[in-house]
Order: sequence, then C-alpha cells, then structure tokens
Amino acid sequence: MKNKQPTSVVTGAAGFLGSHLTDLLVSRGHKVIGIDNFVTGSVDNIAHLGGNPNFKFIQQDVTEFLFLEGPVDYVWHFASPASPIDYLELPIQTLKVGSLGTHKALGLAKEKKARFLIASTSEIYGDPLVHPQPEEYWGNVNTIGPRGCYDEAKRFAEAMTMAYHREHKVETRIVRIFNTYGPRMRINDGRVVPAFVSQAIKHKPVTVFGQGTQTRSFCYVSDLIEGIYRLMMSNYDLPVNIGNPTEMTMVQFAEEIIRATKSKSKIVFKPLPQDDPKQRKPDITKAKKILKWEPKVKLADGLTDTIAYFRTKV
Ligand code: UDP
Repeated sequence: MKNKQPTSVVTGAAGFLGSHLTDLLVSRGHKVIGIDNFVTGSVDNIAHLGGNPNFKFIQQDVTEFLFLEGPVDYVWHFASPASPIDYLELPIQTLKVGSLGTHKALGLAKEKKARFLIASTSEIYGDPLVHPQPEEYWGNVNTIGPRGCYDEAKRFAEAMTMAYHREHKVETRIVRIFNTYGPRMRINDGRVVPAFVSQAIKHKPVTVFGQGTQTRSFCYVSDLIEGIYRLMMSNYDLPVNIGNPTEMTMVQFAEEIIRATKSKSKIVFKPLPQDDPKQRKPDITKAKKILKWEPKVKLADGLTDTIAYFRTKV
C-alpha cells in the first residue's frame, strides 16, 4: 500500500496555478486527474501533457457532481476565476465554484478518503487593517462590493473545509495564496503582471491605477507551488499563507517592469478600482516554521522567465 503510485485530482488543472501544480505532481510520481471547464483555463497550459500515461483530463464544471472511478489520495481544489476582471465578469460562476464546487470537491475527498487542499487567497483579508497579514487576522471584506463574490466564496470555502474536517474527519489543508506571477498567466486577465508586461513589451503606456502607492508582494510560481506541495504533505490543518514578503508599490513595480523589458513605455495613471486593497504582504512565519519553506526566486529572475513567455504571446 505504502509504495503505490499516488493519485491526485486537480480541479482547475488548465489554469495558471493548476497546470503548474499538475506538472510538479507528475514530476514527483503522481498520477493526475485534471478537471477544468476552460472558463478561464486554457488547453495550451496542459497540451504538453497530452499522451502522458500519468495524466488524464476531464472537461467538467466542478460545481456538477464529481464521479471518478478508482482510488484517489489527494484532491487539490484550484478551480476558480482569480483575477479581479474575471470575477467581475463572472460573479455568479465565481460564487458557485467557491461554494458548490468546494462542496463537490470535499464530497469527492470524503468518498475516496483522500486528503483535501483548498486554494484560498489573501483576498480573504480584504483591504487589510493589519500589516503584514498573519493567518490569525480575520480580515476586512466588503461583502457587497465588486470583489465580494470572490472574497466571500473563498471565505465560505474555508468554512466548508473546516466543517468537513470537524464533522466528517476529512484530512484538510488550507493555503492562502498571495499575488503570484509566472508563465501561463493569461495575457488579458487584467492582473497587474500581464497588464504591465504586455504594455511594456509593446512600448505602450503602463497603466498604474490610482496613485500607484498601493502595495503588493509577488511570488514566483515555482516557489508557490513548492510551498503548497509541502503544505499538503504536512500534518498541519489550519490556514497557511504562501507568498513572497518582498513588498513594493505599483509605481515601483511598473518601473521595475519597464527596466526589465528595456521598454520606452511611460507610466500613465488610471482610476483606482473600487475596494482595491491598499497594502498586502504575507506574514510567512508559519510557512517557514512548519513547512521549512520560503521563496527563493528573486523578482529579477522570475520576471526574466515571465517576460520571455509573454513575448511569445504578444
Ligand atoms: N493594477 C494597476 N494597473 C493595472 C492592473 C492592476 O495598477 O493595469 C494594480 C491594481 O489596482 C492593484 C495591483 O495592481 O492595486 C494588483 O492588481 P491585480 O489585479 O494583479 O491583483 P489584486 O492583488 O488586486 O488582486
């Protein structure tokens, strides 16, 4: 039993994070069943796995009943629109995948006696009044604002995960993912990395929202996925932040991207979207202590790979 090949189910397997997670799992000997309905995911992200005997793909909306034959050891629930523009356009699907989709994915884990991990988010902290954000902070979310559909769906998903853990004794893990970047982000998903990089590559104005004094902290995707893998394999069942604590303003970030792309672009200022968090930086004390994890990839190196990827897409 101990030496058998583990089977992982990844929802959102054709997405940015889901596809990188799938690659890591396959490289570590897992058999992966990927599920995606391509609402925001792309077949390009998993095309390289075609024909791989350790990867099976099911095109399905995870809010529908999930039936799978055979054993499953790990369920990784990553399906969701994840950029502010996407969830503004898809508020009901965002709420459904975070609530009904999480319920179905937990039901699958319970049925298969599998361990479950929910991809939660720094958005559960809302526009945070505590800085940096430790896992103990309960957050400051506007339930009825434009981000409410995503933030509340993920908060519900965490609550549902703890309920299945407490009532059904499902082994569960909760990762709170902070801003992440890397190849396979969608060029037009509206997030700051694809927006700034594609604008800079084309020498077009780089659109900083508000005065650009709001901060974010960007983690390279390979670091993030390693942290999440370690969390799943740990025995810790409370939320853990995974992200890079190097914080910068959006003006600093725009300047960094203009430099890294050797662009002639100038910064232009556009209105700040409603409820845009003013600051965000993970407190990663827990990840360091419990998972022996911290990010390794420097922003300059991560940007080099990301820019090379976007040059093939622009
Ligand atoms: N942002 C920006 N210009 C853009 C896109 C985003 O200045 O073209 C800002 C946005 O207002 C936010 C930050 O960049 O403060 C990160 O935005 P993103 O949409 O990537 O994710 P968020 O962290 O807000 O979920």
